[in-house]
Order: sequence, then C-alpha cells, then structure tokens
Amino acid sequence: MSGDRFDIIVIGGGPAGGMAAWTAARAGLRTVLLEEHGEIGAPTHCSGKLSVHAFREFDLPLSLARTMLRAATLYAPDGGVAGVRRGEIDSYVVDRDLFDRWLVARAAEAGAEIRLGVRARRGSRDTGTVLVDAERRGGTLTMRAPVVIDAEGARTLLPASLGIAPRRALIHGLQYEMEGLRLEADDTPELYFGREWAPGFFAWIMPLGGGAGRVGLCIDPRLTDRPPVFFLERLIADHPVTSRRAHGARLVRKLVGRIPVLGGRAPSAAPGLLIAGDAAGQVKATSGGGIYFSLVAGRLAAAAGAAMVGGDLLAGRRYEQGWQRRFGRELLFTRAVRRMLNALPDPDLSRLIRAIGENPLLQRAIEEHGDTQYQSRLLRPVLGQALRSWREIRLAPAVLRALVRGLLDADRESPSPGGRVAAEKT
Ligand SMILES: Cc1cc2nc3c(=O)[nH]c(=O)nc-3n(C[C@H](O)[C@H](O)[C@H](O)COP(=O)(O)OP(=O)(O)OC[C@H]3O[C@@H](n4cnc5c(N)ncnc54)[C@H](O)[C@@H]3O)c2cc1C
Repeated sequence: MSGDRFDIIVIGGGPAGGMAAWTAARAGLRTVLLEEHGEIGAPTHCSGKLSVHAFREFDLPLSLARTMLRAATLYAPDGGVAGVRRGEIDSYVVDRDLFDRWLVARAAEAGAEIRLGVRARRGSRDTGTVLVDAERRGGTLTMRAPVVIDAEGARTLLPASLGIAPRRALIHGLQYEMEGLRLEADDTPELYFGREWAPGFFAWIMPLGGGAGRVGLCIDPRLTDRPPVFFLERLIADHPVTSRRAHGARLVRKLVGRIPVLGGRAPSAAPGLLIAGDAAGQVKATSGGGIYFSLVAGRLAAAAGAAMVGGDLLAGRRYEQGWQRRFGRELLFTRAVRRMLNALPDPDLSRLIRAIGENPLLQRAIEEHGDTQYQSRLLRPVLGQALRSWREIRLAPAVLRALVRGLLDADRESPSPGGRVAAEKT
C-alpha cells in the first residue's frame, strides 16, 4: 500500500475537503480523500447554520436542512434585548454529520476514492510531486500526487511540513445539543453576550425545531484560563434567560471544536499545495461561521489543482486571488469587528445592543440590509443611522475607540491574562 499515485490528494472529509474531492473527481482527476476518522462527519463540532447562499450556489437539497432561520435575538450583558427579523430566510440549520456524509458521497459517486481511518502526518516534495506520509491502524502508507489540497480543519499537520506555517489564533467551542428546551421561536437563534458568560466571543442557542437546540459558546483562551465547560455549565445554570430555556431539558450529545477566527492571512498556496477551509482560516471572526466559505474555497482549490496538474505554474496564485475576491473582504471586516467587540467593555456593549433594541430605524436598516453571510454589506447603511443613535446616547467615543483599535490592531496577537499566547497544536 505504499507509493500510491493520484492526481490530487485531498486531506480531510469536512466541507472544504468534500467539495474539493467532488469537484476534482467530476473534472476527471484521479482523486483520493483521506479522513482520519473511521466515518465521515463524526465527531461533529458545529452548530450547522448555513446561509441560503450556499444552498443556492451549490444546489444543495433542502432535505439537508433541519430548520430555517429568519431572525435573531441578542441579549446584552446587562439583560437588554434586541431582536431583528428579516423578511426572507437567511439560513438553514444542518446536521453536520449528515451534511458531510452527503457531500463525500457525491465525491465518491463522481469517482473519488475515499480512505477512512487514514491520518496524513507529513508531506515532502520529490521531483514535481508531493509525497504524503499517513498512518492507518498503527501502520504507515505513502501516497504521491502533483497536488495536495489540505482541508484538515482548524488544526493542521501538513502545511508546516511543506513550508507553510499559518499563524492562527483558535477560540475554543463547546455545545450541548438538548431536547425539551423552552424556546420562543424555531426560526430565531439567540445570542448571549458578556465577558462573564463567554469571554472573547458569545454564547448561543441554535434552534433545531420541536424544542431541540444547540446551546453553546466559544471562549478565547487568551482572555481566560478557564475551560469552555466552566462557562457553558454556568450559562445553563445561572444566566437569567438560558437557565429558564434549559430548565428540565435533556442533554443529547456534546459537540467540541475550535475555530481559527483571526486567520486568512497566511499564504494558502505553495508548490504542490493548496489550503482550504478552516485550515486556511477562512472563517468569519464575528460569528465563527465557516461552512460556506469552506465550500467555496474547496471548489476553487480543486479548479486550481486541476490547472496545476496540467502544468499551470500560476494556478496557486490564482487560487489565492480567487478566494480573496470572493470573500477576503468579509474576513477582514469580520476580524476588525471581532477586535472591536472584544475591546468594548460590557457596559458599552450593553448600550450598543440596547440602542439596536430601542431604535426602530436602526433595526429596519439591519433587517433590510443584514445578511449573516456578508456582514460587511451592513456597514454603510447602518453606520449613518447608528452613529446618530450613539451620539444621542453618548456611546460614540467608546465605540469609535474600539473600532479604531479593531481596524489598526487587526494583526496583533493579544496576550492572555498570564502573558500566554494560544499556540496552534500542530
Ligand atoms: C462550536 C462550533 C460551532 C460552529 N458553528 C458553525 C455554524 O453554525 N455555521 C458555520 O458556517 N460554521 C460553524 N462553525 C465552523 C465550521 O464548523 C467550520 O468552519 C467548518 O467545519 C470548516 O470546514 P473544513 O472542511 O475546513 O474543516 P472541518 O469541518 O474541521 O473538517 C476537517 C476534516 O479533516 C479531518 N482531518 C483533520 N486532520 C486530518 C489529517 N491529518 N488526516 C486526515 N484527516 C484529517 C477531520 O477529521 C475533519 O473531518 C462552528 C465551529 C465550531 C467549533
């Protein structure tokens, strides 16, 4: 089983890898997808919120959707509430295990070979091809291809051995999928803000319909030494709203994962190597959403890979330009906003959320222009309205300070309370 030759080796059976393998196999390339786990989609870590744009662009069947989302309710640290409701469907919620399996099944149907329980360990270059050393059930195997698409997710092994060591800050997530939640609406995720509840990010309840939902949060380990489970247990026990929602609810499963929220900076292409999805930091730093961009990048990477197999030396650079064009601006925008939100003290964040809740014009601007996939589209229409409101409530200086810090400091890794910087586990 050593020295297998392919046109493209895809590492990882998530959205980026599944889409890359599907696209490459459809283009007639001899494609293999390696997945370290014994089955696709397990263990799952994700809330599964996926924009309508993904369903339209990739012609995904609605049977993959568990519920649809049109609205959101924001809970401020001080208990203030703001609700927004769009006139149309914004997103669907999928079960990632089923979603990933569906995608990889399409890749297999198109001719990709799927190897489960195979963990890629390192890559090396050899006369125009890349050798991938992998392990399976304690044994080792080596595969060879002119192109490797790395779609390993948030924690990567391969790129460093091939000369790319992306610097990425990871936030840590934990969710309890529960039944018997007392939710107000099946189309309305609830977001809970405040350093006490989720330092460096936020907590949420993602409705799944029929009283089921994913109660979760992420925390930034640079801002706290406590683990996510501490915050999630406290949220469920003590938060004035979530404790009521979860009272008497039953835990179905736990979902654990990490998100590279300050990524998208490092090179995502090198000779014989293309990196897609979380592995390339292609995630919105505001919400942690990365499925859609992973699908887009997976498809672009496969197209570039096909060109590289044909000898096109500029295909890697075009891949980078392609994804930057498609969503690079969103990554920059959401990273700046995340920085801004992290820099805002809780009282200012509360005033901001209350300002949205109490200002119908601001709400209408968000409802008309808001699109959780393309959040930067909100900037212009909302800013004028918002600045007027903030001036009224004397919030402008704090918000503007935080905004400037978010924009100017976007590249700085801030240290943890103890001076420790979260290290990527490679
Ligand atoms: C708590 C949480 C909630 C989230 N909620 C949402 C949400 O609601 N909506 C949204 O859009 N995004 C969400 N995300 C982010 C989303 O899950 C990711 O952006 C998305 O999964 C990225 O897809 P990917 O294919 O790049 O990586 P992954 O989905 O992580 O897939 C990587 C795959 O590669 C495999 N693998 C890794 N290393 C190797 C190796 N060396 N060899 C072989 N196989 C390997 C892994 O087992 C895995 O199957 C959430 C993330 C977390 C942690």
